[in-house]
Amino acid sequence: MEYWNAYTETLPREKLNRIEFNWFKELFNYAKSHSPLYKDKLKGIDVGDLRTFDDIKKVPFTYKEELRKWQENVEPFPYGGLLGVPIEEISTFRQTSGTTGKPVYVPESYESWQWRIEAWCHILWMAGFRPRHRLFLPFGYNIYVAFWEAHYAAEKLGCEVIPGGALDTKGRVKKIIELKANAMAGTPTYTLNIAQEAVEMGIDPKSLHIERILGAGEPLPEATRKRIEETYGCKMFDHIGSTETCGFAGMCEAQHGLHIIEPFFIVELLDRETLSKEVAEGEQGVIVVTPLGRRSFPVIRFNTNDIAVKGPSTCDCGRTSQKMLEIVGRVDDIRKIRGVLFSPKTVEQIIRSEFPDIAEYEIVVTREGIMDEITLRIELNASIGKEAAEAAAKRLREQHKIKTNLSCKTVVEPIGTLPRYDLKAKRFKDMRGDH
Ligand SMILES: [Zn+2]
Repeated sequence: MEYWNAYTETLPREKLNRIEFNWFKELFNYAKSHSPLYKDKLKGIDVGDLRTFDDIKKVPFTYKEELRKWQENVEPFPYGGLLGVPIEEISTFRQTSGTTGKPVYVPESYESWQWRIEAWCHILWMAGFRPRHRLFLPFGYNIYVAFWEAHYAAEKLGCEVIPGGALDTKGRVKKIIELKANAMAGTPTYTLNIAQEAVEMGIDPKSLHIERILGAGEPLPEATRKRIEETYGCKMFDHIGSTETCGFAGMCEAQHGLHIIEPFFIVELLDRETLSKEVAEGEQGVIVVTPLGRRSFPVIRFNTNDIAVKGPSTCDCGRTSQKMLEIVGRVDDIRKIRGVLFSPKTVEQIIRSEFPDIAEYEIVVTREGIMDEITLRIELNASIGKEAAEAAAKRLREQHKIKTNLSCKTVVEPIGTLPRYDLKAKRFKDMRGDH
C-alpha cells in the first residue's frame, strides 16, 4: 500500500480546494460560536462573506501573542479563551516549549487528539514507516506534543514503539542495540549526538542498523539530512509542524520538499511584505496554517512566522498535494548584518556539508563601535590536532565569505565548551541591542 489514504492523497486540485473551503467555513462557524477568542476576533465578518476560496484571506490572522493573551487570567483555568469545547471533554494536557516566551497551554479532547494523530499517520507513512519498524524515540516526552504525536501515530499505523526516555545518551545507544531497533525519530542535533556517543563507545553508527529516521523539532537543511544519512547509512525524512497547528507537512520517498497534508490543513504561503497574496512557485512565503478538524482548540490562519519556498503540486510519488520545497527559517532569525540579509541556516549548511570534523558550533553577532561582527565559535572532534583545526577555521572563514558575502571571525573552542542540545538547538546569538 503506497498511500495512507489513497483517495485524499491523489485528489485533483479543484476537489481538494472544494473540500478544504467547506471545512474552513464549518470551522469558522464552529469557532465563532464556541471559542471566546474567535467570538471576539470574528465579530466583523460573517460566513456569508466567504464566497470563494480566496475569500479565506479576508479572515484575520491569529498570532501566538494573542493565544497567550487569551489564556492569561481568563477562565476556565488553564486554557482560558482558547477552549472550543466544555472543559470536561479535555482528555490531555499539552503545552508549547516556551522558547519564545510564556508557554501556551493546549487543550486536546479525545476527538481532537485523534484527528491530530490521523494527520500524523500521513507524515509517518509518507516517510516509509511501516509495521515492520521497531521505532526508538530517544526522548522523555514530558508535557510537549511532538513525540507523543509520533508515538501514537506510529502505534496506529502498526510500528512497534519503544519510548526511550529516562536514559542518558549512552543508555539509549545500548537500548537500540539490545532491542534491535531499526527506526528512529529525533531532532537532527540529537540524532548526530547519538551517533557521536556511539563512536566514542567504539561503535560504528552504521552497525546500529537504523533504516530510517524522521527529523523533528528543528529545521533540517539538506546538508544535515545527507550527513545523518551517511553517518547511519539510513534514509532520513523531514516534516514540519508546531504545537499550535499539529504536524502539517512531511517528506515522501522522493525526498524533494514537503507535502502539505491536504485536505487536513490549509497552508498559505504569503508574500513577506504585505502578507496578502499567495507567492508563486519558487518564491519565499510566510507559512500561515489552518488545521481544519480540531474543535477543542480551534485555530484559524495561524501565522507561524516561518518562511518556506513554494514548490509544485506534482511529485514522482503521485500525490497531488501542494509542496513546500525548502523551509528557509523563522522570520525572526533572518537579520540584517552590515546591510546584508543573513540567515543562520546558511552557516549550518556550510558546516554540515563541508566540515565533518566540526562537532558543534555557535554563531554570535556583536556590535563593535558601529560595525557588526560575526563570530563563529567552533568545536572540532577530539582527534583533530591544533594545526588542522586552525586550517579548518581558515577554510570556514573563506566559505562563509563566499556563501554570505560577509566576513567573520572564528574561535576554536576546547571540546565540551559549547552547549549540547536535545531539543530546539539555539546556536544563533544576536547580542546587538537594536537589531
Ligand atoms: Zn511526493
